[in-house]
Amino acid sequence: MVREGRISLNEFLKIDQALAEATLQLQPISESPRLDAELLLARALDVQRSYLFAHPEEEMDPAAAARFAATIAKRIDGMPMAYIVGEKEFWSMTLLVSPATLVPRPETETLVDQAMICIPRKSAMQVIDLGTGSGAIALAIARERPACDVMATDLSEEALAVARENARRLKLPNIEFRQGAWIEPVADLVFDIVVSNPPYIAKGDPHLESLNYEPRQALESGEDGLDAIRRIAISTSAIMKANGKLLLEHGSQQADAVSAILTEAGWADIRSFNDLAGLPRVTVATRRNEVKAGL
Ligand code: GLN
Repeated sequence: MVREGRISLNEFLKIDQALAEATLQLQPISESPRLDAELLLARALDVQRSYLFAHPEEEMDPAAAARFAATIAKRIDGMPMAYIVGEKEFWSMTLLVSPATLVPRPETETLVDQAMICIPRKSAMQVIDLGTGSGAIALAIARERPACDVMATDLSEEALAVARENARRLKLPNIEFRQGAWIEPVADLVFDIVVSNPPYIAKGDPHLESLNYEPRQALESGEDGLDAIRRIAISTSAIMKANGKLLLEHGSQQADAVSAILTEAGWADIRSFNDLAGLPRVTVATRRNEVKAGL
């Protein structure tokens, strides 16, 4: 069949035609155009995805077609699926997200994996997640380690509102949230485990353009992307028990720089771990009993 231009998704289309057309339109911007189209069409029609496969010949009503066309347009503009549908899977949990929070990434599960190794199954440790965003890391730990008390901080009230709602929906009683920068709202407490996925992209990095919909303050951190990690490395000893562990996510090119920062700040037993793509993504360090004066 010779295609003469694009079919408007607002035209009278059957389900299978709308899916085929939307898939074509999404190809340049999505790694999973067909799946995105299916999820967005199911949403516009308010049906399960399986309904689409069972009723390919059904004609869409104009209101649903218009809803579908509107969300496809957002997706073509680069809006992440998670913001369009308002949720994202992370660590087998369905989490609410909003433009005030980063979209949880699969590589961040590597940080949770390492936290699971550092926190024995039934131990009642004090854990904190700095810059929690949607709460993804803190919620995963609170769920996997119910005997632990998990604290989570974030500068953004909007992000914390999303994280609190996630905790409520998941019925997790062992998690608490405080608003403020990094350790500021918890300066009176001590922890066994500190985890963080801070902003770590360098200012002006071209990669930021493709992340335009996500909050810049959760992504970008100074000229080399390491400002937040420096601040956490230096300040966190003050809220840690002896032999406590710090687990940081960072960029795939930053493991050596992060190790150097941690060494300089007096941390010991520094080791980096790869994500599922085989890239060094998480660095773990232990607080020495003797912390350098002035840090
Ligand atoms: N991993 C994210 C990305 O490069 C960045 C997350 C972050 O800065 N914490 O898309």
